[in-house]
Amino acid sequence: MRIHNIIAGTRTISFEFFPPKDTSGMIGVLDKIKSLKSYSPDFVSITYGAGGSTRRFSEELIMQAKAEHDLEVMAHLTCIGHSADELDAILRRWDKSGIDNIIALRGDFPKDGFLNSNINSTFQHASDLIKFIDENYPFCIGAACYPECHPESISIEDDLSFTKLKVENGAEFLITQLFYDNDDFYRFVERARSQGITVPIIPGVLPVLSAKQTRRFTSLCGARIPSNLAAKLNKYENDDKSARAMGVDYAIKQVESLWDYGVCGVHFYVLNRSYSVSKILDSLKLDRQLI
Ligand SMILES: Cc1cc2nc3c(=O)[nH]c(=O)nc-3n(C[C@H](O)[C@H](O)[C@H](O)COP(=O)(O)OP(=O)(O)OC[C@H]3O[C@@H](n4cnc5c(N)ncnc54)[C@H](O)[C@@H]3O)c2cc1C
Repeated sequence: MRIHNIIAGTRTISFEFFPPKDTSGMIGVLDKIKSLKSYSPDFVSITYGAGGSTRRFSEELIMQAKAEHDLEVMAHLTCIGHSADELDAILRRWDKSGIDNIIALRGDFPKDGFLNSNINSTFQHASDLIKFIDENYPFCIGAACYPECHPESISIEDDLSFTKLKVENGAEFLITQLFYDNDDFYRFVERARSQGITVPIIPGVLPVLSAKQTRRFTSLCGARIPSNLAAKLNKYENDDKSARAMGVDYAIKQVESLWDYGVCGVHFYVLNRSYSVSKILDSLKLDRQLI
């Protein structure tokens, strides 16, 4: 079922996983997917490695989540490092396999510089990939957006204009980068609406797992750590178990407030660790009826 249609009927809960590095890791990730199935996710998604080495496992996981666990899936697809012919082959295969939803992304350049020349990339930006998919295949397309601006962007206005282009080119919903201050999300939604972006915007939530992990992720994606959270991270600098428990409480408050605000759904960055998300959803019992 198309996510666009799912959102029209319910407030969604979705989970994002990443593929293992080798075949032996497949069972572990599938177990995590299975363990969160009892929360009735409206869809699950599997990231796609722009670097190339794990792409095969992304596809396998998507197929297995759909076929074996009967879950609605959203396949991530990145355009850097792929020619149009390669993308065409992938998209045809996924269409044939009954995949309905794709989140179309540029991808992050691997740190080893493997793709820096962009030699094999037909499309340089997500908006190009979205146009290509929209014009040639039947998928429901989602795209990424950035409440605190994408780190490479010149300005918030510039970033928003490219987000708008993704929607004009065919994206039917947006999922945000992680953020730890809901006000950043609310301000972003206001800016987006004022620029005529009317599609559903799903906030992405990553519960803190450890102080180190949170600092690393936020610095990679350009997200801010608000001062109240920074103080808590300092307190649990060398105590990951307490940091994780604090992260659950922090995310509960974050999601509760987002839900009260009236978001159309919440997308959890699970990072293949089901503990925190289970605790959050056990505690919240979110009413998914549309308001
Ligand atoms: C929900 C979500 C899921 C993700 N999943 C994955 C994944 O599976 N695999 C992965 O590798 N990464 C993933 N990412 C990370 C993403 O690939 C990076 O954030 C990447 O740096 C940008 O991707 P994008 O699709 O937003 O790119 P773009 O929309 O192409 O934006 C990249 C930068 O270029 C600018 N820009 C956009 N269009 C133009 C244009 N036409 N001309 C000039 N500048 C432009 C933008 O403002 C921005 O600064 C995900 C991110 C999110 C939020």
